Amino acid sequence: LLEFDEVDKFYGETHVLKDVDLNVEEGEVCVIVGPSGSGKSTLLRCANRLEEIQDGEIRLEGQSISDPDADINRLRQRIGMVFQSFNLFPHKTALENVTLGPMKVKGESRDAANSEARELLDRVGLSAQESSFPNQLSGGQQQRVAIARALAMNPRVMLFDEVTSALDPELVGEVLDVMQGLAEEGMTMLVVTHEMGFAREVGDRVVLMADGKVIEDSPPEEFFTNPKTDRGKRFLSKLL
Ligand code: ATP
Ligand code: MG
Repeated sequence: LLEFDEVDKFYGETHVLKDVDLNVEEGEVCVIVGPSGSGKSTLLRCANRLEEIQDGEIRLEGQSISDPDADINRLRQRIGMVFQSFNLFPHKTALENVTLGPMKVKGESRDAANSEARELLDRVGLSAQESSFPNQLSGGQQQRVAIARALAMNPRVMLFDEVTSALDPELVGEVLDVMQGLAEEGMTMLVVTHEMGFAREVGDRVVLMADGKVIEDSPPEEFFTNPKTDRGKRFLSKLL
């Protein structure tokens, strides 16, 4: 569904993605792990065209994302992204944060957008908070609003970049639970995370990146018990 085909990305002279091949299949949860600076965020940002690539191609449902002529706005509607920092609009309520995209970008009526947004807030467990502003919500609640907001665009794939890293430990679980629920409903997901429990239980595949390259690409049970590479073994040994 989301394919990276021999992707190369440079920042100036720095080669940050090196010949990356990855195919996230429909309904699959692909978890990316790897040391700091290995290119995980860059990979997600390229998938959403927040960054340009210099070689190779990225395709969503067979359609090129990286083509300079691609319609970026239409494309971004089909790719939802959630970041480590929640990036909610501070002067809008939870409900307004969720309805803004569908109304502005998709031209939905307020009524239609409101009713969909209420369903989504219910799904992430925040029905009671629809009128709250971001600064009245906990980090975990804000992050769940951010997930609902991304879902409101009805994306084909969701990208998550360390969405629990900025949260107090006791709030991590509620966000991971929402993500697990989405996975169980069949959402295609590409997830960068340090939560190895999530990778193991929810992931269909674990991809280890190091130094801009895909080092391993295995089912979780294989990755966590019997990594194929020395790099994988070293990565796992550091987790303990
Ligand atoms: P982390 O786990 O710390 O989030 P990461 O795997 O997400 O790391 P990236 O943020 O993708 O890593 O960074 C990959 C490389 O690209 C790093 O060497 C980083 O310094 C470099 N880099 C990232 N963004 C930029 C930028 N805007 N300009 C120049 N170099 C950048
Ligand atoms: Mg990162």
